[in-house]
Amino acid sequence: MTRRSLTASFAPGVFVFPGGTLDPADSSPETLRVVAARPGQDLDTQAFSVAALREAFEELGILLAYDSSGRMVTQQDLDRLERDPNAGITSQLAAAGYRLAIDQVWHLRRWITDRDLPRRFDTHFFVARMPEGQEPLADETEQFEPVWISPREALERHSRRDFAMIFPTVRTLHGLAEYRTVNAILATLADGPTEPASCPRAGTLKGAEARFAESDPPFGELELVAPDGGGSHALDWQYERPVPLLRHVWRLTAPNPGMMTGPGTNSYIVGDHDAGFAVIDPGPDDPEHVARIAALVGDRLRYIVCTHDHPDHWPAAPRLQASSGGVIHGLPGAGQHFDRNFFPENKLHDGDCLRIGDSTLRALHTPGHASGHICLMLEEDHLLFSGDHIINGSTVVIDPPDGNMNDYLASLQRLLELPTKFILPAHGWVIGEPAQAIRALIAHRLGREAKVIRALAETGPCEITQLVTRAYSDVPVALHQLAQRSLLAHLEKLSENGRVALRDNRWRLLEK
Ligand SMILES: [Zn+2]
Repeated sequence: MTRRSLTASFAPGVFVFPGGTLDPADSSPETLRVVAARPGQDLDTQAFSVAALREAFEELGILLAYDSSGRMVTQQDLDRLERDPNAGITSQLAAAGYRLAIDQVWHLRRWITDRDLPRRFDTHFFVARMPEGQEPLADETEQFEPVWISPREALERHSRRDFAMIFPTVRTLHGLAEYRTVNAILATLADGPTEPASCPRAGTLKGAEARFAESDPPFGELELVAPDGGGSHALDWQYERPVPLLRHVWRLTAPNPGMMTGPGTNSYIVGDHDAGFAVIDPGPDDPEHVARIAALVGDRLRYIVCTHDHPDHWPAAPRLQASSGGVIHGLPGAGQHFDRNFFPENKLHDGDCLRIGDSTLRALHTPGHASGHICLMLEEDHLLFSGDHIINGSTVVIDPPDGNMNDYLASLQRLLELPTKFILPAHGWVIGEPAQAIRALIAHRLGREAKVIRALAETGPCEITQLVTRAYSDVPVALHQLAQRSLLAHLEKLSENGRVALRDNRWRLLEK
């Protein structure tokens, strides 16, 4: 890495990888005649790769090029070349009979600068192996203080505020730090970039600006509240005042954070003063939380909707009704194991619609987490209130017998077919890219199921307490008791599907 000039107009004094702007000459016919490309490197990739190698040469004096015998050029070869950008690398390569080794350059990822920054960049990151025997030497005009540093050390020093870097560099190093060797990185990149293009978004945490990439949990929420960027949306959990998400949608989080509830239960408030309001999941029976909801809805509350009968979701409903009116809606569980105290006045069946002015809340029966679980679709805005069926930041517990894994996956499959734009979960931030998120959840469960089958195949007939240590070997032991509930849900699913059976308290695989 090298350090940018302290007087640079963009990111002065920070450590970066060598690189620069694509030059028209990087894709000229003359240049492409002196490159050694790989099959499959299209013209764009070739031009970007040329730019990467050209900049590394101009800024650091490193050159990935083959001499006429096909060997990588040496430091002695390099010393005869002119690094000045005006000298033109193409003509020098042609004169020396060298070919630029872009076949040794691998595309790592693409970053597009945040929408809200005054200067924006569209940047490709590449990885190549440093040629043996060459010594980087900074040009001392654009780049200074070249340093060989491992990704881990750079990140460590950055966290000690001893190595200034910008967000894309930090995230790129985080990705690289996953690999132990250059070979491991190059082998992975042979199949293409490790991650899709990224264009981060900014919000605030504890008053300070914080940036997030697509894979970070807050990204979807920033996308919803400020689609064009430029927001200063506070991502800290608000228990005192409702957070506006859209003109007619607020979130107030109940002050019940914990292992099972994450930051707390999200109560959503939909509507306006003229049309009236719906409250989705009033939460636990906390008088102050209810008072804060009541302060927003006044005497205009029409619907109190509970997604399911778990104690962090519905018990506030009677108190909220006493203060603000409204009719309690929900679907009691089926079978024997639901909460009998949960007694909605108005049963919501699949497809039932609640009207709030011009908006429609459609109920979707989504059994799985709870047999009477419903999700709600705010149809005009394509927002899915997912209750506990989908939450942000952790895995939903499927706790038999009221929880059922076959039902859970079938409900996810059904949600996948809806034209959802954002998911508003009962725990955690708003989720963007719903289809991608739901597919990942399905894949996660099926991956676990495959692991359960493998574990059973290895152990033979086995009690669940022993099976959990194998099937959840990637989960901390402290969580195994909880994991055992999900394991039971997987085993019951496999039993329903005819793959396993329980005999003498031992689970066994059945022959297919
Ligand atoms: Zn919950």
